[in-house]
Amino acid sequence: MDKMTIRDMDVQGKRVFVRVDFNVPLKGDTITDDTRIQAALPTIRYLEEQGAKLILASHLGRPKGEANPSFSLKPVRDRLAQLLGKEVKFVGESIGEAVENTIKTMVDGDVFLLENVRFHKGEEKNDLALAQEFAKLADIYVNDAFGTAHRAHATTEGIARYLPAVAGFLMEKEIAIMGGALANPAHPFTAIIGGAKVSDKIMVIENLLTKVDRLLIGGGMANTFLLAQGYNMGKSLVEPEQLETARRLIDFAKQEGKMLLLPTDLVVAKEFKADASSRLVSLDGVTDDEMALDIGEQTVKAYEETIRTSKTVIWNGPMGVFEMDAFAKGTNAVAQAVAKVQGTTIIGGGDSVAAIEKAGLADRMTHISTGGGASLEFLEGRKLPGVEALMAKEGN
Ligand code: ADP
Ligand code: MG
Repeated sequence: MDKMTIRDMDVQGKRVFVRVDFNVPLKGDTITDDTRIQAALPTIRYLEEQGAKLILASHLGRPKGEANPSFSLKPVRDRLAQLLGKEVKFVGESIGEAVENTIKTMVDGDVFLLENVRFHKGEEKNDLALAQEFAKLADIYVNDAFGTAHRAHATTEGIARYLPAVAGFLMEKEIAIMGGALANPAHPFTAIIGGAKVSDKIMVIENLLTKVDRLLIGGGMANTFLLAQGYNMGKSLVEPEQLETARRLIDFAKQEGKMLLLPTDLVVAKEFKADASSRLVSLDGVTDDEMALDIGEQTVKAYEETIRTSKTVIWNGPMGVFEMDAFAKGTNAVAQAVAKVQGTTIIGGGDSVAAIEKAGLADRMTHISTGGGASLEFLEGRKLPGVEALMAKEGN
């Protein structure tokens, strides 16, 4: 990785402002999944051991620039204190006198969690006056929040203009593994793209087609590709305005000499319901009152075989409506196949990650990206402002 990390800095006795992603799901003030807090622990523990004074900052939900107790990070403070087995300071603010006074009392290794930074309007606007307020609290800035790295906000981009800025371990891992796979993959390199819409992922497909050897398409977006090839898709989710794009992508794959696979059979139903009766059809078997909700058995076989013989796999987007068991078979079979790959396997995208977790296969993958939107933009080949803002290693 060409960005500096916390390993490149002497943090002993320094005030270190760490942007983490503690945007956890809450029911009332109970955290229903603390994965994101756990994911930040390696960086936090390392800085603690090195004798830094840690000032942690995060957003939570969308409080729209106003203080709102239902988006307070207080429950996160309590959980973090439990996980670290020590006190985590918290004063219900992220800037101002109470914050500054608390920092003055900190000794090396202390941990202080700021209140939700989105309680200030300037955060999402990347207001530089606010960024400077944050910057003056600390000596060093660390970004460990890959999930918000595609946004230029005061605590993800602005602040890096005023402090030495480096990556934490989680950020480093995301960039190293995804960046490495894109820049220098072991071949055959296969991308599996699915999910609801072509329009969400045109740029991803375009960028990946220049890098991969094989592209497998499934999920709702496959319907538009099939419609573009003249098949009747009945009541399936399709995007008529993307037909030209679908044709262009198919031609582009041909031009580049890439293998682009589309479903050859489908699981269809008359209703979008968990208990709807379904049937397996070939591509010309979809009737006007049916919709495609999963890839079929023959497609699964072909995709499994393609995945099995790959050395690098990137997967974004489920193969069907995996939330309903009747239409989860394609996604689960593909997940099993990816889990068995001898090589690098990377999963990005909120629903894809949920599907893998539901299948109990998360720990069989090389890397599960923590950032849905950020990993999509990364796969599109775009530069992420939160990453660009970090200092480059010498010689880069
Ligand atoms: P990710 O979050 O992994 O990027 P998306 O958000 O693009 O994935 O798409 C996931 C959604 O696509 C799921 O809610 C799933 O039910 C839906 N989906 C997949 N296949 C179909 C289909 N054939 N018809 C309708 N919706 C589908
Ligand atoms: Mg999604």
